[in-house]
Amino acid sequence: MRRVILTVVALTTTLYAQAKSPVDPPYKQVATSTNASYWQQRADYKMDIAMDVEKFQFTGTQQIKYTNNSPNSLDRVFYHLYFNAFQPGSEMDMRLQTIPDPDRRMVNNLGTKENPKYQSRIAELSDNEIGYLKVSSLTKNGKNLQYSEEGTTLVVPLDTPIKPGETVTFDMEFSGQVPVQIRRSGRNNKDGVALSMTQWYPKMAEYDFEGWHADPYIAREFHGVWGDYDVSITIDKDYILGGTGVLQNANEIGYGYQDEGVKIKRHRGKTLTWNFKAHNVHDFAWAADPEYIHDRMETPEGVTLHFLYKGNDKVVENWKKLQEPTAQLLTFFSKNIGPYPWEQYSVIQGGDGGMEYAMCTLITGGENYGSLFGTTAHELAHAWFQQLLATNESAHPWMDEGFTTFISTLAENQISGDNEPNPFKNSYRSYQYIVESGKEQPLSTHADRYAYNAAYSVAAYSKGSIFLSQLGYVIGQEKLMETLRKYYDEFKYTHPTPNDFIRVAEKVSGTNLNWYLTDWTKTTNTIDYAIEEVTTKDQNTTVKLKRIGLMPMPIDVMVFYQDGTMEYFYIPLQMMYGEKSNPFQVKRNVLQDWVWGNPDYSFEIEKPKSSIKAVVIDPSNLMADVDRSNNTVQFD
Ligand SMILES: [Zn+2]
Repeated sequence: MRRVILTVVALTTTLYAQAKSPVDPPYKQVATSTNASYWQQRADYKMDIAMDVEKFQFTGTQQIKYTNNSPNSLDRVFYHLYFNAFQPGSEMDMRLQTIPDPDRRMVNNLGTKENPKYQSRIAELSDNEIGYLKVSSLTKNGKNLQYSEEGTTLVVPLDTPIKPGETVTFDMEFSGQVPVQIRRSGRNNKDGVALSMTQWYPKMAEYDFEGWHADPYIAREFHGVWGDYDVSITIDKDYILGGTGVLQNANEIGYGYQDEGVKIKRHRGKTLTWNFKAHNVHDFAWAADPEYIHDRMETPEGVTLHFLYKGNDKVVENWKKLQEPTAQLLTFFSKNIGPYPWEQYSVIQGGDGGMEYAMCTLITGGENYGSLFGTTAHELAHAWFQQLLATNESAHPWMDEGFTTFISTLAENQISGDNEPNPFKNSYRSYQYIVESGKEQPLSTHADRYAYNAAYSVAAYSKGSIFLSQLGYVIGQEKLMETLRKYYDEFKYTHPTPNDFIRVAEKVSGTNLNWYLTDWTKTTNTIDYAIEEVTTKDQNTTVKLKRIGLMPMPIDVMVFYQDGTMEYFYIPLQMMYGEKSNPFQVKRNVLQDWVWGNPDYSFEIEKPKSSIKAVVIDPSNLMADVDRSNNTVQFD
């Protein structure tokens, strides 16, 4: 008997693309979670901002109408002051200087490629290059409050507590300086965009059933409070803006935002005031540049897409080419997850890489079309898995990055015409790499607490994406896609948790899945199933299997016969108390359950070994088995 790795064509391919739910009209209402003890706070913002484009400084007033929907009285609140991270000696700077594999965008390499010596770019910022947010006054219901700045957090003890159900008004005056572009936000980045204004205003921290989420800004992503935003930005009249919300005074502003046929008559003066409104979001971002080209188009669902970009001929050509596929992406996500609920979405050239915000994304570059399209697909998918299904990105980064990677991989695969049978290969490869490196940490690790950036990335993006593609192996692709749509229906406009998601999957599939959530997200247990032996006696063949890894799994075994036919043997996992439907167009034998506690399992095939060409565990390759070399036995 010879053991070789046999390449088996994946047979589960087409189900993903067959979206079934029709596109409904946009949702106008906030859903209520099915969890009775759930609540979420509300913060409605009104901000007036005056931007000095010469000094990269701004002043602002902010009014928040804050509603305490929790059952608790609050005796203090917290605001995020994210721009303060971009200062020498900040916690972000310290972390950057001490992590073994710093984000390359945030450091200079003073050594060589082989022997790097990293210097924090934050540590090198001078006073007029740093970022800051300074609060100069704060009142609650008109009465002055004391407050203290602690790094990127403003701590505000309250004179009188906010009672359950009470709405209070916070009024703030503040000023800020836009940092030299280091990460996500900043000025004059390498693409030459003047202002990338993200995480730029004092932002109320979320208080939910897990308490306050006043996480310091060290590196990772965000958790916010739902609300309406009404933001007016006064800026040099030559600057063109894009961002969250719908421009309210488009016919005064022009620059491609005006209604068709409208002639823009601007008042004299050096500035324009842009007024944006956004309904039911938990963030607000914008960007501005005097050289932005602005295109817009309507999707079949009636969503307006805006594209703001600049650069050489190649960049411009790629950003034009991007527009139709972006509409197709929006349609794909709307059908496969649920309708995009806002009136518009803007794809904006900005700071570094790509980052998701409410109703918009900021993306760099455009020289490489493939990467521009891929990044747009990913960031647009975050409108669902971050803005609508707003999991806490610090606590559960894999639920926004992983789910986004999963759905955008599917969308790209279809829209680009690649139609790869298994488009998730890269995620499995990355996961395998981190397992072998010994640097893996469980997905339940706080996003800032990974020892290596690489471990965070693979966990959040790759292992998070495999959580879904592999769940498709466990419960079947149809049930997986139905789970995503049901998850959207039940949890849109809320902060769902891992448990919320797996409960939906359980109800849709009619199986028990807590073991899956536990092993895959709270441990680094691995999956390794093996074919130990194939023997024949009296025209019957016995296949002996072994569970080597700690993580349980139901098992697909495909038997390929010499005559070219196939037979599928399915071994349900007992602790699931249920089975998936047959994913293959091949005869299926449902065998006895495998109990996890017993590492050994065997079954009979009513044919001699001489008629068998190969026996293969999981021909779909969707199970993240860390040693596939023992998954196949092939005979000559
Ligand atoms: Zn992402």
